[in-house]
Formats: sequence, C-alpha cells, structure tokens
Amino acid sequence: MTICFKFDYEVLLVGVHINSLPIFILICIVLFTIGIFSEFLSFFQYCVSTVAEGESISDLNNMEKEKDNSMELSSLSSSDSLDNLIGHNVKSSSNDQAISNHEAHFDLIKYHPFDIDSKLLFQIDHFRSSRIPFFLKTLYKLGQILIGYVLMLIIMSFNFWFLLSILLGYMFGYYLFFRLSKQEVNIQELLDSMSNEDKCGQMTQLGLDVIQKNNLNPTDQNPIDYEKLKFALKVKKIGSFINPPPDISSSTWQLVINTIQNAVLNETSLKIPVIYATDSIHGASLLKEGVLFPQPLAQASTFNLDIAYRIGEITALESRAAGIPWNFNPVLDIGRQALWPRLYETYGEDVYLASKMGYAYILGHQGNDIKNRTKSATCLKHYLGYSLPFNGRDRTPAYIPDNVLREFFLPPFEAGVEAGAQTVMINSAHVNDIPGHANSYYINDILKGELKFKGFTVSDWQDVIRLHTRDKVAETPEEAVRIAVMSGVDMSMVPSDYSFFDHCVNLTKKNEKFLNRVNDAVTRILTVKKNLGLFENPFANAEDLNKIGTNESEEFNLEAARESIILAKNKGILPLQKLNKSKILVTGPTGNIIRTLSSGWSYTWQGESEDLYHKYGRPKLSIFEAIRKKHQGVVEYTQGVLFDKIAQDFDQTIQVANNSDYIVLCIGEDVYAELPGNINNLIISESQIKLAKAFFDLRKPVIVVYTAGRPRVITDIAEKADAVLVGFLTGTRGGEAIADVIFGDYNPNGRMPVSYPKYPNGYTTYDFKPMENFELNSVEHLYPFGHGLSYTEFSYASLTLNTSEIKYPNDLQIKVNVKNIGKLDGKETVILYLNDEYGSLTRPVKQMKRFSKVFLKAGETKQIDFVLTSKDLSFINYNSQRVVEPGRFIVYVGNLTDTFLLKM
Ligand code: BGC
Repeated sequence: MTICFKFDYEVLLVGVHINSLPIFILICIVLFTIGIFSEFLSFFQYCVSTVAEGESISDLNNMEKEKDNSMELSSLSSSDSLDNLIGHNVKSSSNDQAISNHEAHFDLIKYHPFDIDSKLLFQIDHFRSSRIPFFLKTLYKLGQILIGYVLMLIIMSFNFWFLLSILLGYMFGYYLFFRLSKQEVNIQELLDSMSNEDKCGQMTQLGLDVIQKNNLNPTDQNPIDYEKLKFALKVKKIGSFINPPPDISSSTWQLVINTIQNAVLNETSLKIPVIYATDSIHGASLLKEGVLFPQPLAQASTFNLDIAYRIGEITALESRAAGIPWNFNPVLDIGRQALWPRLYETYGEDVYLASKMGYAYILGHQGNDIKNRTKSATCLKHYLGYSLPFNGRDRTPAYIPDNVLREFFLPPFEAGVEAGAQTVMINSAHVNDIPGHANSYYINDILKGELKFKGFTVSDWQDVIRLHTRDKVAETPEEAVRIAVMSGVDMSMVPSDYSFFDHCVNLTKKNEKFLNRVNDAVTRILTVKKNLGLFENPFANAEDLNKIGTNESEEFNLEAARESIILAKNKGILPLQKLNKSKILVTGPTGNIIRTLSSGWSYTWQGESEDLYHKYGRPKLSIFEAIRKKHQGVVEYTQGVLFDKIAQDFDQTIQVANNSDYIVLCIGEDVYAELPGNINNLIISESQIKLAKAFFDLRKPVIVVYTAGRPRVITDIAEKADAVLVGFLTGTRGGEAIADVIFGDYNPNGRMPVSYPKYPNGYTTYDFKPMENFELNSVEHLYPFGHGLSYTEFSYASLTLNTSEIKYPNDLQIKVNVKNIGKLDGKETVILYLNDEYGSLTRPVKQMKRFSKVFLKAGETKQIDFVLTSKDLSFINYNSQRVVEPGRFIVYVGNLTDTFLLKM
C-alpha cells in the first residue's frame, strides 16, 4: 500500500476534478469492483460451459444406449427406418427446452442465411480459441484480473510512464494470446486426446439424408434435422458428410455446411471440423448457379492443359465459395473400355494425356496452398483398375496383370499424387478377383508405400459393407470393416447408417493392430482438415457467393466447349454460310434438348431433368436454338426419332428434310451416370440409324452432330454423312459452340481422346500390340486417337533429332516446324509418338510421349521443341520393374518419322 501514500488526489480522473480523498477512493473501489466482477463472471461462464458440455454428452450417450436397445428389437435394414428411429429416440428422451433452444439458434440461420457473416468473425475466433489448452486460458483470465487490479493501483498513483508500460504490456499479452490461438492445431496432441469413438467417427462419412428432416417441407430452407445432427456429432462423432441438399442453391449449401460446423462448435468437446464433399465432375456441377463445363472426356479432346487447369481453378473457387472444401474428382482411370458408362468422366485412353490433364486440373484446383479459400481438396479416383471392366459394365471385375497395371493404369495416379492431391477414392469393383477395398497391395504397398501418398483414402459408396454383402470376402460386417481398414481404407463412405462406426469401435477394443491402423487413418484425415484450414475457419461466407457463375467463368466455359468439339469428317460442306437464305433442318433426339450436352453429374446424379437446365443458371441454348440464332435463313426443328423409338413426327421430318438445303442430324445418347448407363450394344440405337438412312435416301447434304459420353458405333451413318462433328459432352455452352463451328465462327481444333471404334467387336486402343494387326487381324478405327480436322491446313517439316544415337540416361531433343498453310488462323495439336522397335516384352505400335497445342496465324510457321527423357523410353517389365532397354526407337510427328538408337 506504499503507492497509496504517494498519490496526489488533485488530478483529473474520468474528467472530474477530484480534490476529496474519500470520493476518489470510492470511485476507485467502484471501478475496481466492476472490473474484477466482470472478469470473474466471464471466467465463471467459461468454466461452466466446459462442464455443461461434458454433461450433455453423457445425456446423449444414454440416448444412444436406448437406441441400441430398440435397434436390437427391430432388426432394421433400411436407412430411412434407421433415421426414423434415431429421430424418435432423440425427441423422446431429450428435454424440450434444449430442443427449443436449438431450434431458435437454428431458425436464426435458417431465416437469415446472409446474417451468418456478422457472426462469422466471432465464430472463427471462438473456433480458434477452442483449441487453446485449458491451463493457458485460465492463466490468461487470471492475468487479466491481476492486470485489472494493478491498473487500478497505477491509476491511483498516476505515474504516467508506469501506466503506459503496463498498458503496452497488456496489449502485447493480448496480441500474444491471439497469436497463440491462431497457432496451428497439433495433430498428434489432438489424436492423443481422442477416444476410440472420436477416432472411428472421424473415419465415418455419412450422406446428408441421415441428418435430414423426415418430411421436408418445400418452404424449409434448411433440410437438417438438428437433433439428428446433434446425435451424429455428439454420439457418433461423425467427421464427414456428403451429398447435395435437396435445394442445391449455393446459399442452401452454405446454410447446410454452416449449420453442421456450428453444431460441431456448440455440441462437441473436441470441435474437430467436419469435412464435406461432393462430386463436382465438370465444374461445380451440383450447384444451381455453378458453371457446367465440358465433361472430362471433352476436356481431354482439347489437348489443352490450360483448359484443365482453369476448369480445376473455377471448380474449386465455386465449390469453396459454397462451403464445399472437398471434391470427388478428378477421375484418373484410363478410358480403355468403350462400353463402360463412366468413360466420359475420364481423360480418355492415353496414359500421358490423362496424367497431364489430371495434373493440370489438380494444380488449378488446389493451388500451392489449399488453405486459400479459393481452393479445395481433390480426390483421385477410383484407385486402381476400375475402368477396365471385362464385360464393359460398371462395377464389374477387371483382370489386369501387374505390369500392365503399372504401365497404363497407375501413372495418372502417380501424377495426381505428385501434384499434391489430398485424397484418393478406392475402386468399387475388383481387379484379379481382389475387391478394391480389400487390396492391401494396391493401397498400402503401392499408394502409401511406393508413391508415398500422405493424404487419406476414402471408400466408394457402401463398398466396405459390400465386402460382406456383395463380394463375400468377409463373413461378417465387422470383418468387412477390419479387412477394409487393414487394407488401407482410411474413411468409409458408409453412407446411410452408423454400422461402420459401431464395428470400428468394437474392433479398436479388441485388436491392437487395428487400433494402430485407426490412429494412422485419423492422423491422415486430421492432417487434410488442417491443410484445408478447417480448424481455423470451416464456415462458408455469404460474401463469396458472387464468385459463383461469373460472366468471366461462363465466357471461359464457351471457349472450352468450342475447343472440345472435334471435326471428324468434312467433305467440304462446312462451314455453312449463315448470311444466306438457305433452309436448315435440325433434327434428331439430341437436337433440341440441353441435358444431352452435359449428361450425368449435372444438377443431379443422372442429369436427367431438362427443366433444371432451364431453371438454373443463365439461359442455355440447344443445338437447334443456337443455329437458329445465328442463321439468317429458315431453321426448323423436328425430332424424327427418340433414342429408342420412332417419333410421331417421323414422316413430317422426312418431308421437311426434303424441302431443306441442309440437314443437321443430331444423334447420340440420353443422359446417364454409373450403372444406369450400362449398355448391351455399342452400336447406336436403331431408331437413329433409321432416321439417318431416310435422309441419305433423299440425297440431301447431311451434317451429323454426335454428342455422347462414349463413342457408340456410328459407322454406317458417318460413312455416308457429308460432315461429322463429335462432342464428348461439351457442357451447357455446347449448343452455341457447335453452331459456332458449323458456321465457321470458330475454327475447330478438338482431337479424339479415344480411338473411335468402327465396329462393336474387337475394340482396340491406338497403342495396341503388333499381333493385333497381323495377317488376318486388322485394327480399324472409324477415327483414330488424336484425329481431328480444321478449316485450315497444317504442314510439318524439318523433323530433327539432336542425335541419332543417345547414351542412357541422356535426354533427346527433337524439333519440328509446323506451318499453317491455309487461309484461316487456327490451333494445331502437334503430337509426338514413339515406337520402341524391339523389347523383352511386346511393345505398343506407338505411344504418345508429348503433345503441344499451338496457335498459328494463316501462313505462320512455328518451331516446336520436345525433350524426351530416359523415363519416356522405359516400360514395365514382367517383374513389375520400370526398365530401359537399348535398341532402336522410331519417332513420329505429323507425317514425318525419324529413328534413333539408345545405347546403355
Ligand atoms: C461413385 C463415386 C462418387 C460417389 C459419391 C459413387 O457411386 O462411384 O465416383 O464419388 O458415388 O457420389
């Protein structure tokens, strides 16, 4: 109290001149008491809230027990009835006040989705500070009280410098506290603090339907049933959700994700953010306002890596803006089975093209730092060997020897891992009779071992339980969980019940090896969450909504669509004149609908609703509408046929065709995704062949526009047509892009990313083996891989190799001059193929090793330089080793060839 003796009470305190000692002391005491009281109050609140959380967890655990009992009574199988049951129990055993509190909180978000922002900063800080250890918080609070006390004494003594230094010290302490609170989460410490339940929950991924309201009212903006969500988070500790909400507007996405993350914050003790995922296969294609780009197969037709990069960039930007930090894309399966209904999700049949496109897409999508809120995590799928079903149907077995697997199927995944992909999804089918989810060799040994993949793997839909129910390699559901996890699966896309969680918890109790594996899986999952910055800010921000569906992105979409169109045949008929009065008939089942330009994964899984294309996003034009918009003459549309039958207007169509100058015949496939897209016959439907034949009989010029997700056999049609355009699902701007090409407003430059088959049998990729084209065998494609015409012409000259003999491991430099010898500017894809003449295993007749897309003005020449490394000359031998063997190699560029000798 010595300080008290020094004070001069004739000072200005709070603007009042006080010259009475008792009044001064009184003021000091009042201020001091208020300060201390408020500090104690907040400290008290903080302690109480921590305890309360613990209590409500035990409440819910009791509820969980009740649920288990009733589950035993009614052996449930459907997820719906499970939902009902959970909902029922939660309601009957929880106290009403708690429910109404949550509803009030819930309603705030529900009716004011854009108000989330005002709360956002607070939430983020709270999220961060929730990660600060208890002792540090206590210290901080005590420190505050102490400083309050000392401040009072200082004010009373009124020593200016002392006062200033205390103030600065206080500010510094405060700053340090927030720096500490921003400090990155320590994964090991977090893992150590987790129970086995917490860990198994992190490994469980559920569909949104599990936490959705049972009877969703159309006016209900928020589909989440808060009690179900609370149960999922508090009792089952769920770490991940998937699937779009019923209303896929970006603000609803945000609302759903913020509701979940808020619940994590308010209802759980560890406050580990949830990671939400969806399938944005061709742009953020499950967002109402998202840009629907060309599908990956059409992206590959551009042979333009910038396009893949930019699509990755915009997809991530839009997804993250809607709050979705994780995308189940890219599909890095190689498309070497034309029947397979998921071919359009791939980058085609070539290893090099798929690897490069995938790499570029991932770089655009993830950038250098996925914490950046314009980036999001990618998922390489479906590891490994999914895309070569023996019978051509989805999710059926493949038989792929190890050397073939490593030569063709593994490299795109290697490239994806190298690009920094955070997650990998497992093959839903089998390879060599081993289910993807039981293949420890592929996942543990190759992916996590050889490729050093540090992210986490996720199962495909229901595929863990299917080890028991479908594949019959696990005798019980619990065994299925054990096999999958021990084989390297880190997260299970269950997605409709809690079975994985329950079995996982049981296994952790009795199997130490399993627990070790669980620790590894959870470490990987938490690391990805940390990499994404979810611990710092897991919320969607309403301000980001304007990043979705911008004019700039839509402009780019049109560019990408144009570049994806392949002019496969042109007997000089194209481009058509648009400024004359010619009469054009647009006809065929794909001529006046939008959905067939995009197919699956477009607003819905199957992309089937024509209405949604018109309702969502900006206005879209069908091929017919786009042609009509451009052409000055008469443009009519009649359907002629449906995909599988003759349309009512068939005869009328033939009449109109007879009176037209040109027929634009739009054929292809209706929409599909995954299994519903299985087919029994690669040949295009009979009805479409019939329509085409009727037109050929008229001897009118026919321009065929083929849009589909795989190359159905159209040989009879294509051979008689005057021109053929192919679009492997060009996205929502496809109609305009096709019209641009037809009228010459755009000079086509797309190339075949697959070998277009001539016949349904004997399907062969371009990089076939010599015996496939020997004596009575012959490889014939309707259009070869890499084929694509232009309205201008390019010539190749001066193919030069820096040496005709290289010594391993030196590089080889190759250059060639390419000239635009036509009258129009245009883009050309310069492709370099290589043939290894003799090898210890049969070598492909040729393989693409490099490509380069160049723009050349009419008359312009450019020199293109390529460098081949020794890896480009290598292959996988019978012992699964990458080897380089000496000998002669042949280089093909355009119509030029040269050879060189490799010496060891
Ligand atoms: C597909 C995956 C997809 C998942 C989630 C599965 O049926 O095979 O590619 O990511 O569903 O939608």
